[in-house]
Amino acid sequence: MPESIPEVKINDFSQFLSYQEFSHQILLPYFAGSSVENELEDIVNKAFNFPLINKDYFEKDLQYSVLELFHGPTAAFKDFGARFLSLTMSEITRKNKNPGITTILVATSGDTGGAVASAFDQCPEFKVVVLFPEGRVSPRQKHQLTCWGDNVTSIEVKGEFDDCQRLVKEAFSNNELSMKHNLCSANSINIGRLLPQATYYAWSSLKRYKGSGDNTSFIVPTGNLGNAFACFIAKEMGFPIDQIIFATNSNKTISDFISTGQWEPRATLPTLASAMDVGNPSNMERFFHFFDSPETLIDKLQAVSVTDEQIIDQIRSEYQDNQILCCPHTATALHVYRGLCDSDKKETHWCIAATAHPSKFENIVEPIIGEEIMVPEKLRALLELDSSFVTIDPELNQLVDIIASA
Ligand SMILES: *Cc1c(COP(=O)(O)O)cnc(C)c1O
Repeated sequence: MPESIPEVKINDFSQFLSYQEFSHQILLPYFAGSSVENELEDIVNKAFNFPLINKDYFEKDLQYSVLELFHGPTAAFKDFGARFLSLTMSEITRKNKNPGITTILVATSGDTGGAVASAFDQCPEFKVVVLFPEGRVSPRQKHQLTCWGDNVTSIEVKGEFDDCQRLVKEAFSNNELSMKHNLCSANSINIGRLLPQATYYAWSSLKRYKGSGDNTSFIVPTGNLGNAFACFIAKEMGFPIDQIIFATNSNKTISDFISTGQWEPRATLPTLASAMDVGNPSNMERFFHFFDSPETLIDKLQAVSVTDEQIIDQIRSEYQDNQILCCPHTATALHVYRGLCDSDKKETHWCIAATAHPSKFENIVEPIIGEEIMVPEKLRALLELDSSFVTIDPELNQLVDIIASA
């Protein structure tokens, strides 16, 4: 956690700023006095070198919007955080007199691994080891996790995401191993991934406010609570954000906490929105840290759990009725928006975070809509590369051998 969240005055921002200039301006206080302060502008420009698109739609006379976060190289919002993190870490390493090689160890439910591999690909100071669960990622996600070669090693684990995460944690807590390979995490527990994600919520709400005077409420597809916590940071900084609703799949740890007051992490259930299959959301700890007591926290949080059946219906009806082609994760947030009552819809401007491009989940979305989805050019280029990976049992000694030879 940052020691404090810097506050902004929204009138301080010129309307002529680009998204990159704006992001540099609001991230700067977090990096003041650090070794990357002077390079921050350059880092932001290089990291956010793809479009951020906010599309407006109408439902009768009501306007709402969809914030498309999936126009980066691996077609999911994870590109924002992963690219910022890799450029920042490279800069820090370059300044370090005695750097050595850092090994980034990352467990993925599908999208993080691709974004991190892409961001660190060809960076000579880093090796990347990605662990993904066998049979739990889409065919295109798998290709994207295994097409890098060079400084990236991809491991298919005979188990679930939880097994991947457990292996990574075991490796980190083994001091000797951790020191020997200079192990480092790139999951959303890393603040370097979280802060850059606050910029798109801040930017989108500020633009709306300057245009129409409306505050924005966001609905965020949520798994490990990283993206949602980033939205919360933007609100705390003083950007014109009203409500934040977490849309989850059938993994109900968060919504059950809000209704019972008990925080009870549990085993992960596999769902169609697989990148959100998390039974023990890591970033909840940050919310607990921020609020004095669970009661005040519960007062502030809203979460809605969406079933696989509802996801399927939503993908179909969004396409037929609204010409919105969405991935299973974004479908959970659209489901929550459509279910709001009219007075809630009118009270504030609603914005749905669209977290991945639907073509990454073609095996789910195409049969539902009965059509083929166009694949974005950057993703298509990755799908043409050769793929290679090793398969292991979920046992630390097998992981250790691979880290040693990576
Ligand atoms: C990672 C991911 C999520 C969940 O984000 P968290 O920060 O873990 O809550 C949602 N949708 C997609 C497509 C993702 O890749």
